[in-house]
Amino acid sequence: MKSPVIKHLFPFVIFGIVFYSVRVMAVEDRYQTDRFEMVKLQIEARGVRDPAVLEAMKRVKRHEFVPAELQAVAYTDGPLPIGEAQTISQPYIVALMTELLELHGGEKILEIGTGSGYQAAVLAEIVAHVYTIEIIPALAKRACETLERLGYRNISVHEGDGHAGWPEEVPFDAMIVTAAPEQIPENLISQLKIGGRMVIPVGRYPNQMLYQIRKTNEGVVKKEVIPVLFVPMTSQEKR
Ligand code: SAH
Repeated sequence: MKSPVIKHLFPFVIFGIVFYSVRVMAVEDRYQTDRFEMVKLQIEARGVRDPAVLEAMKRVKRHEFVPAELQAVAYTDGPLPIGEAQTISQPYIVALMTELLELHGGEKILEIGTGSGYQAAVLAEIVAHVYTIEIIPALAKRACETLERLGYRNISVHEGDGHAGWPEEVPFDAMIVTAAPEQIPENLISQLKIGGRMVIPVGRYPNQMLYQIRKTNEGVVKKEVIPVLFVPMTSQEKR
């Protein structure tokens, strides 16, 4: 027989569970509204048109990739600090760089600069597999945890210097570099398929240019996109 105390507490416990669930749902709902607005006002309004990119940006929960105290501003129009003096890129830049990779689905992608893991998650919504390299161990570990918690199964995170690329998985259909080297790393180009695209910021802070690079049989074709501001691509010797 149930004790009378448990019997009397039962309705309160049920009420507590329902109240908590409704609250969590309301917060998730607000984030979804913020996210849809971000896509419309910051991304579509600036000319990003690829439906796969817009869909991915609507799906990935950016607030899960920023520190707890910044979750409320996760969908604002700018980069945010993620610790270790690094940043998660502005949503528009993430969308633009993803569009410039010219993805159709099914690709194998290499990202240099995992950071929070957000850009990798956006890519993973579109392609078959994302390989991503992060040089700061604490960030690599945290990104791994976040991506696992959110259920991403098609992302592999490696801690190390991105200059080396990922020789075991060559060739890649496309590459995205989210830290700025002073020159395009030749070694990375060698790991790209003929016909493959690389999107990369190049130059010494604050004079950087975003490039879309296409590898052809005749060499690489470079296209300037827009001036940008990224953290520098460091190397293990310099750290
Ligand atoms: N794509 C990230 C943002 C990247 S910020 C996101 O979505 O959150 C740039 C990241 O590049 C930083 O985390 C920095 O530590 C990393 N980085 C810098 N130089 C690197 C290198 N040589 N190899 C790998 N990662 C590097």
